[in-house]
Amino acid sequence: MSDQPTTVTSIRPGLTMRGFDRDRTPVADWLCGCGRHERATGADAVKNLAARVLVGVCTHEVAVIKEAA
Ligand SMILES: [Zn+2]
Repeated sequence: MSDQPTTVTSIRPGLTMRGFDRDRTPVADWLCGCGRHERATGADAVKNLAARVLVGVCTHEVAVIKEAA
């Protein structure tokens, strides 16, 4: 825990979700710490993305290793 404010911008790693406060399709943009960007569109996709990235661990390197194996 820290007192630093949690600010998510388009140029820093983090998860940005929008569309939940309106009657529109939710969209989530995830910018990983490794620089990789993912976008999820739709409630289910957003939930899946959030469940993965909120762990705070980059899974891209692991995924690459698995794919290459
Ligand atoms: Zn990553």
